[in-house]
Amino acid sequence: MEDKILGLHHITAIAGGAKRNFDFYTRVLGLRLVKKTVNFDDPYTYHFYYGDKVGTPGTILTFFPWEGIGTGRRGTRQVTEIGYSVPENSLDFWLKRFEQNNITYNKTSEKFGEQYLTFLDPDGLKFELIVPKNTDSRTPWETDQVAADVATRGFHNVTITTNKLQPTADVLTEIFGYKLLEQHVNRYRFITDASENAAIVDVVEAQGEGIGHVAGGSVHHVAFRVKDDQVLMRFRDKIVEKGHHITEKIDRNYFYSLYFREPGGVLFELATDNPGFAIDESVEELGSGLKLPAQYETRREDISSKLPKLD
Ligand code: ZN
Repeated sequence: MEDKILGLHHITAIAGGAKRNFDFYTRVLGLRLVKKTVNFDDPYTYHFYYGDKVGTPGTILTFFPWEGIGTGRRGTRQVTEIGYSVPENSLDFWLKRFEQNNITYNKTSEKFGEQYLTFLDPDGLKFELIVPKNTDSRTPWETDQVAADVATRGFHNVTITTNKLQPTADVLTEIFGYKLLEQHVNRYRFITDASENAAIVDVVEAQGEGIGHVAGGSVHHVAFRVKDDQVLMRFRDKIVEKGHHITEKIDRNYFYSLYFREPGGVLFELATDNPGFAIDESVEELGSGLKLPAQYETRREDISSKLPKLD
């Protein structure tokens, strides 16, 4: 069988205060914290993973919250928008919820025949809640305030902003197997048929726009999904053949990874479905304990006492 990229795996962004980030995503947006761990390179910083009940690839948004970090700037060489899929007739609920919680949002609008609502998280990270043309059948995580009939289903798309379409488009089509679906002005919509959801990447070609600055409120990288580490390594060969520099396989505890910078400047990762988030906690307990990689386990007491408090 041909190796496939199965849409998006996760998106990783940078935030300011940990507690503010935790409160916004779990309470206001109603996501589940599926893993609470630390930055493997900087264990006094959290690494939060938000998603659905089990952290299904295509629903996972992760953050490195750095207290006091400056604000980034949206621009080229970046993922500039993250799209979540939401059910039909849910946008009024979200409009009211954003109003009540002092969240910056825009009036609803439409692109590619789909209604959407733009909002910013507390650090200025830009999102869209999108009602997809085809009903999204994924089972959402529910909270007492965000019920299934309005809850986010996981990612719909990401938007990459670049000065020049073609080099980024080539990676998507020639290596990842995406196809150009639609174009509107300078927005090019690419899709893979290897996944029913989280299957879209929009590339916005903005020739005169300045380079973005990655800091608080910006996306650090976007990860694409592959089935397992064998497929991962075959993609590695393909990417090397095309002349891109790529890392060796990295063990991220919950998945295996490779990173390379696509020619448009965005850091791409490929990440596997295996082994998944239930490797060190039961599904019921996901996100409840502080999970440390083996090399930091002996420093647990020191690390947990220095991490910001969340309640
Ligand atoms: Zn990642």
